[in-house]
Amino acid sequence: VKALAIDIGGTHAACALVEDRRIIVSETLDADGVDLAPLLRELGDRLRDLLGRAGVPAPACAGVAVAFCGIVDPQRARILATRGKYADAPQLDLQAWARHALGLPVAVENDARMALLGEWYAGAARGVNNVVMITLGTGVGGAAMINGRLLHGKHYQAGCLGGHLPALFTGRRCICGAIGCVEAEASTWALPAICRETPGFDASPLSQCDPVTFEDLFRYARAGDQVAETVRTRCLKVWGTAAVALIHAYDPEVVLFGGGVMKSAPDILPSIKAHVSECAWTPWGEPEVRAAELGNEAALLGAIPMLGGPRRPQ
Ligand SMILES: [Zn+2]
Repeated sequence: VKALAIDIGGTHAACALVEDRRIIVSETLDADGVDLAPLLRELGDRLRDLLGRAGVPAPACAGVAVAFCGIVDPQRARILATRGKYADAPQLDLQAWARHALGLPVAVENDARMALLGEWYAGAARGVNNVVMITLGTGVGGAAMINGRLLHGKHYQAGCLGGHLPALFTGRRCICGAIGCVEAEASTWALPAICRETPGFDASPLSQCDPVTFEDLFRYARAGDQVAETVRTRCLKVWGTAAVALIHAYDPEVVLFGGGVMKSAPDILPSIKAHVSECAWTPWGEPEVRAAELGNEAALLGAIPMLGGPRRPQ
């Protein structure tokens, strides 16, 4: 089965022609996060171009699967809400766009859910039907699958606000308005301020990074910098706490960690595994903590199951 796939984030958008568990051709473009309508027009052109390069006619595809960084109603193929990006998205008729641009049906899903679907279909969660995924990046994303079905909830928010699980009720103010969210305590956007407020920062090599990334943090922590060690320990505890919360909430067999920050997986996974071992109450045994395998391609590879084969998620 072939399909077209799009993954729209705040700073990049990727599009691809996929066949079953592999990407035939793909392209990534910069996105400014301002308006979705012109970006969709551009993506329609790029997809027609990819089809031409691959010599595949559009009707040979099952449809267009769109992963979007916001709250999405997959039944009606509408984007319901965004946070500070693509303000025009809820007004757009994606079905009309896909029909007009490519003559194909469309399926739309939250990007973290579609990434989990991709890992389930083609990556680290193959053969596992009860999974939660946490994506560590600029923000922190999440998704949950129970008995082979993505969890949506009444307002399509279930499982996808893993980054906004409260980790610390006396913590930092989050961009969502809450206090002490996982993402406010340990994400790429929050990291520079967390480092700056750590005693000794001015004398730490971290003060020379602009902005501080997790790669910097782990490198200087390994080299023995005290400030980096303090912040590293704290962030690892926050992510471990998120894993325990999600295990208690959703009863998964496997917890997947993905996202750009997982380039540093060897610095991250052992500590999270230890925290889960110590803190999760799972009398049946131990949930496995794994690194996601598909990186930026995870959401694109969710296209085939999104569009109905092998199973349409509800
Ligand atoms: Zn929050």
